[in-house]
Amino acid sequence: MYNDDPHNTLYDALHRPLRDLRISVIDRCNFRCTYCMPETENNHYSFLKSQEWLSFAEIVRLTGLFVSLGVTKIRLTGGEPLLRPNLFELISSLRAIGSIKDLALTTNGSLLVQHARALREAGLNRVTVSLDTLDARTFHQMNGRKGSLQRVLEGIACCEELHFDSLKINVVLQRGVNDRQILDLVQYFKGRQAILRFIEYMDVGNCNHWDMRYVVKTREVIDLIHAHFPLRPLEAKALGEVAMRYAFEDGSGEIGFIASVTQPFCGTCTRARISTEGKLYTCLFASEGTDLRTPLREGLSDLELSRLIRRIWGQRTDRYSEQRSHLRSQPHLAPKVEMFQVGG
Ligand code: SAM
Ligand code: SF4
Ligand code: SF4
Repeated sequence: MYNDDPHNTLYDALHRPLRDLRISVIDRCNFRCTYCMPETENNHYSFLKSQEWLSFAEIVRLTGLFVSLGVTKIRLTGGEPLLRPNLFELISSLRAIGSIKDLALTTNGSLLVQHARALREAGLNRVTVSLDTLDARTFHQMNGRKGSLQRVLEGIACCEELHFDSLKINVVLQRGVNDRQILDLVQYFKGRQAILRFIEYMDVGNCNHWDMRYVVKTREVIDLIHAHFPLRPLEAKALGEVAMRYAFEDGSGEIGFIASVTQPFCGTCTRARISTEGKLYTCLFASEGTDLRTPLREGLSDLELSRLIRRIWGQRTDRYSEQRSHLRSQPHLAPKVEMFQVGG
């Protein structure tokens, strides 16, 4: 069933290859981050029932098809992916597919202490932990007063002990909320295994009241850090790399910046996303996805499913971030998929 041909590349309508697949394994979360699923707005939100989730077998089958179409990197996300029971079993099955270079997880880190070892042993090789601050008050202000900062830091330390191939810490910056803590975060992680990455706050979903005034521009962040900890830019490693990487001049490792708002990278966007209920999205800011679960459950063959995926990717023209100001000025912008449904 799987095609190992490395030249088997599927291109979209703007000649962007399909390389990465992000799979949301659950839409629930134990945090309520203000920039993703703020508590007040989502009290009415009804999460999917577990029968509506793609099963592990369905995820593995779809992943195999995506791999046969050129995908080499898989990221499991959510909601909070570690709330999905027995996630390590999914990881072992995905590992068995072969041809997957990177098998990664994005997590809020709250449950890593319990799960990191089993995930590592099952074949997970990269972890990204989302952590926006080292200040307990700001941590709770930003995540809806959930969980414990200390527990997240312990989870990160656990991952360091397990020597994942890559361990990253994602920080979403919001002006007036956590932008004063940039240097503390740099100081804390500098020289450690975990690589810090600052991300511009995005207008994902429909409920975070995004405004450009809250975005801390990457240029500003780099200048601030460089003034205290001199940096030099590094070459990009691969097409589709979203982070601008810098090295500390003193040799104590690297740091990354994701300027998704001020320097969009749609031109090299190679990512497809599958929501928890099995819809395929070709952009983080899309309004509609294509249902893959129904055809899967109705018994479509691998060939038929591959054709469907080919057709959707082949027609892809998304480049929301490059068109943001134009699209946002439209009077009737269709509601976008929420980040916790489709995964970051
Ligand atoms: N719950 C997991 C976590 O927080 O890591 C995985 C899912 S979360 C939706 C994936 C990533 O999206 C996180 O790193 C989070 O910080 C990021 N994110 C969510 N809302 C965002 C926004 N409005 N702008 C930028 N990044 C955002
Ligand atoms: Fe949950 Fe992650 Fe969204 Fe925060 S960013 S609410 S941890 S899904
Ligand atoms: Fe990719 Fe859409 Fe983000 Fe552009 S806006 S980089 S097309 S996910």
